[in-house]
Amino acid sequence: MSGEDEYEVGFGYIAESIERATARRAQHYEMYGWKPDGEKMLRILHLPMNTYWHENVRCNDGGYRDFPHTEKGVKKSLQRPCVICAGEIIKPPGKKYGMIERGIALAALRKQSFIEKGGKRIPGAIIDTRTTHTPDGDGQQYVGLLKFANSNFWGNLSGVYARNKTLMDRDFKVKRIGGGYDTYYSFEPQDPIEGLKTKEELEEHYKELLKDKPTIFEWFDEQCSQEYFDQYLKAETPEQEEIMRTTGSVKEKSQTSGTGMPQPEREEEVSHGVQAPRDTSFSSLKEQLKSQMDSYEDDDE
Ligand SMILES: [Zn+2]
Repeated sequence: MSGEDEYEVGFGYIAESIERATARRAQHYEMYGWKPDGEKMLRILHLPMNTYWHENVRCNDGGYRDFPHTEKGVKKSLQRPCVICAGEIIKPPGKKYGMIERGIALAALRKQSFIEKGGKRIPGAIIDTRTTHTPDGDGQQYVGLLKFANSNFWGNLSGVYARNKTLMDRDFKVKRIGGGYDTYYSFEPQDPIEGLKTKEELEEHYKELLKDKPTIFEWFDEQCSQEYFDQYLKAETPEQEEIMRTTGSVKEKSQTSGTGMPQPEREEEVSHGVQAPRDTSFSSLKEQLKSQMDSYEDDDE
């Protein structure tokens, strides 16, 4: 039939349009961050995925965002020479962007509830935190993204992981300790909750919460995409070019999105380039991360 090849038909096109739709939706995760000595109750929803980043890269809108290093830890179809490593982006004179390894995972925000008993307020169950920012005012369970180093965050869970062979069977009270270079995070494991321990129970419990949201892979793929790089790192006008050549104050943090969700405090910390993992004692967790990453790469078409 004539004209056929003037249209985009077939599964390739469908897959591509789904990918584009996914990309739009994929921007909507906010990062968890902690103020010094702050704490949050979290249910981690899957094992972290190991990824490599350039952080606080100056963008064409004057903001700063993090961009994946596109040569490593990236799905095959998105792998390409890294324009940031190659210095092929417009940047302030002399500026170099270091690369840093981060484990990323989704986590639901939880909280300790309290009950009145005999005139006293005593701790009750740990429950999901709901926002009150949805249009119907009903509130939605909150899920956000953890993006942290193995050296001061994920590595501190290695003992728990070695013992329990999972991180998802219980909540953790996660506390930030210290600041600057000496920041680390402590994890206080909570008692497992009946009915919210197994992978199946967790999936069932968070099915509604996650159904319209991107998976961690979709979110990361979108961050890696050429479209995302172009959107923020291309200068279409002399004004944009000028912005990208200047350094403002790195106060505005990356990855904010207009979801109307409350913004968890983002770590007020600027990245310091490559951070070598200090801890080698969590090999089992690292192996796990690696095998998960490998299976992710295998998933690719
Ligand atoms: Zn790079």
